[in-house]
Amino acid sequence: MYSRNKWREEIPCEATAVWVCSNEECTCWMRNNFSFESIPTCWKCQSPMTSGTRQLPPIHNNNPEMKGR
Ligand SMILES: [Zn+2]
Repeated sequence: MYSRNKWREEIPCEATAVWVCSNEECTCWMRNNFSFESIPTCWKCQSPMTSGTRQLPPIHNNNPEMKGR
């Protein structure tokens, strides 16, 4: 037997910077990986987005954080 939700628990989520739509009726958000020169607008409702955080699994990129060997 195994839990169907087990994989969710094993993914280490961390507070990730995101842009969140300021429209309370809209649930749009996107990762804040890019350096925007200005505040982005929601692609759905055109509302200005505000910076926030979400618990997300970290993105794997080509910049390993492991130091030493
Ligand atoms: Zn929106």
